[in-house]
Amino acid sequence: MRSTTGWQAHGTTELRRVSIPRRDLRRDDIAVRVDFCGVCHTDLHAVRAHDGDDVLVPGHEFTGVVTETGPDVTRFRVGDPVAVGNIVDSCGVCVMCAAGQENFCREFPTLTYGGTDRHDGTTTLGGFSREHVVREGFAYPLPAGLDPAAAASLMCAGITVWEPLRALGVGPGSRVAVSGLGGLGHLAVKFANALGAEVTVVSRSADRAGEAVKLGAYDLVDSGDPDAMAAARDRFDVLIDTIPVPHDVGPYLRLVAVDGTLSHLGHLGTITVEAMDLLVGRKKLSSAGSGGRPATAAMLDFCAAHGITADVEVLPSARVVEALDRLERGDVRYRFVLDLSDLS
Ligand SMILES: [Zn+2]
Ligand SMILES: [Zn+2]
Repeated sequence: MRSTTGWQAHGTTELRRVSIPRRDLRRDDIAVRVDFCGVCHTDLHAVRAHDGDDVLVPGHEFTGVVTETGPDVTRFRVGDPVAVGNIVDSCGVCVMCAAGQENFCREFPTLTYGGTDRHDGTTTLGGFSREHVVREGFAYPLPAGLDPAAAASLMCAGITVWEPLRALGVGPGSRVAVSGLGGLGHLAVKFANALGAEVTVVSRSADRAGEAVKLGAYDLVDSGDPDAMAAARDRFDVLIDTIPVPHDVGPYLRLVAVDGTLSHLGHLGTITVEAMDLLVGRKKLSSAGSGGRPATAAMLDFCAAHGITADVEVLPSARVVEALDRLERGDVRYRFVLDLSDLS
């Protein structure tokens, strides 16, 4: 066993800088010096729900540099820039894994933190730390030209919107709406725009129209304005709903065009739907989460080709509590990223 320094939840509001264990490298593992790790709503939920007994080190979208390789590693060398997301292992043999959908592994993928390691049964600890040890198959070369701080958030926020956009066939001519202009939403706007779609942001903050256009949107529909919502009825082939809190999907379904799809991504939990909101227009309600290895690699290639990264506010990792508090208030444009170099 080796050790590193990380930020461990203490209660539901505090994180403490402590020494945490990392496994010795297995044959197909790489060790990564974590340079930047994004702060996700999942991290916020995990800390706020932390019951005190389990060891919680959040963080599941990070970039860094390979510092050591196991003897069977073929895709990485020491010194390579690397990116890791919210899945670090899967069974590798089920139908989902065989289809490149490790995110839907029948045995459940091993999560980057709060998961159970498939080999030694330990609880996985996340990227709010200076070093991570991960199977090479779940690490991705970070393309040259992408800023490592701004690229970190591609690995959770990015892939979470990328896979459904691709699966729903978004491309030139698609009319796409994005609700919720946060970490996921702002990347959905950038991706859909770069894929050739005409993108509209749906937001209750009409004063964010300028921001939306800057990100690549064509316009903004004010969700608080009944006339604007009525005017946008049946308009979008795909609506990417990234609102991170419980909400009524009815008003958003009504914006979806005939045979179109609402992809509900930002909030896990019960959704109540009026059947009539689906019936009128043969509309589809869908969801997705994270992405498989092929989609993740394709997303990074696409980002490199189009120069896409997240818009981030980088903070030294010692300010992690401030980042979580501000994320909770929606006070971030659009993603916090922790700089872990203060843990050296
Ligand atoms: Zn996340
Ligand atoms: Zn599997």
